[in-house]
Amino acid sequence: MSDEQTSDNRPGAGVVGWPVAHSKSPLIFAHWFAQTGIAGSYSRFAMPPEGFAEAFRALPKAGLRGVNVTLPHKLAALEAADEASAAARAIGAANTICFAADGRIFADNTDGYGFIENLRAGAPTWSANAGPALVLGAGGAARAVIHALLEAGAPAIRLANRTGDKAEALAEHFGPCVEVVDWTARATATGGAATIVNATSLGMTGNPALELSLDDAPATALVCDIVYTPLETPLLTAARARGLTTVDGLGMLLHQARPGFQAWFGADPAVTPALRRAVLGKPGLEGQP
Ligand code: NAP
Repeated sequence: MSDEQTSDNRPGAGVVGWPVAHSKSPLIFAHWFAQTGIAGSYSRFAMPPEGFAEAFRALPKAGLRGVNVTLPHKLAALEAADEASAAARAIGAANTICFAADGRIFADNTDGYGFIENLRAGAPTWSANAGPALVLGAGGAARAVIHALLEAGAPAIRLANRTGDKAEALAEHFGPCVEVVDWTARATATGGAATIVNATSLGMTGNPALELSLDDAPATALVCDIVYTPLETPLLTAARARGLTTVDGLGMLLHQARPGFQAWFGADPAVTPALRRAVLGKPGLEGQP
């Protein structure tokens, strides 16, 4: 099941996915083991969807302290856990799992945390409560982004998605602070927005660019693209050309890994330029946490 030995005495964790071979998480953890001097192990666990719950619930017996969960198992991991954090329940998915000594499984979701920490690190003067946010997309990542923005104090979310029904379902889930905007009206919705976030897969290598005029956006708006392959998406290029503050998506991936490292290995690791280089320098499957 695992591609690495975990049977030594080092404290162990890993990442569960299908496929999982090209997850960037092992690069992040290897960098942090070296940075902190902690002798831990971090392995990949390839688990097919068939029989996932049984295989997942057997992981504590392997002596692991916890695992990260990536696609397509984020919902199934939440359902298979014994307990879940408020964030995991609100987002409806889990990405960070802790195993208690008695084998009980606790599910958390740190994607929203990673998103906000990345904004705070990349734009220290940014504040969620400065005004409404425009979020583009209504998939799994958008759920984490919306939850995090509301928790951070955004007064309102304007939500635009190509498939309107999915945006309506998210608005119903998150309540009256989330207002659905028609996909064709997304440029107008940048007017007065303090925060503009691309949470679609548009702009990712191999996909078309996100078409979004920023002409109406306030000069103070922050633009974040959570797509990080490429690092500089057409949206970020256009935002920079307009003089807007921009934050790329790589830091979200790096910051979402911190709570797991802290829980399993007892140290809060730093997100540094050296970590960014380490993750960017090793080619992997693009877009997969
Ligand atoms: P997902 O659940 O598959 O959702 C994809 C979203 O993109 C949906 O809103 C979808 O709209 C929209 N979309 C796809 N193709 C489109 C098109 N041609 N025109 C308009 N909209 C389109 O994916 P996800 O997990 O939310 O991930 C979304 C992106 O975020 C991916 O690029 C992923 O790599 C990135 N991401 C980054 C991080 C990070 O740490 N930085 C974390 C998670 C995800 P419909 O509903 O209409 O299909």
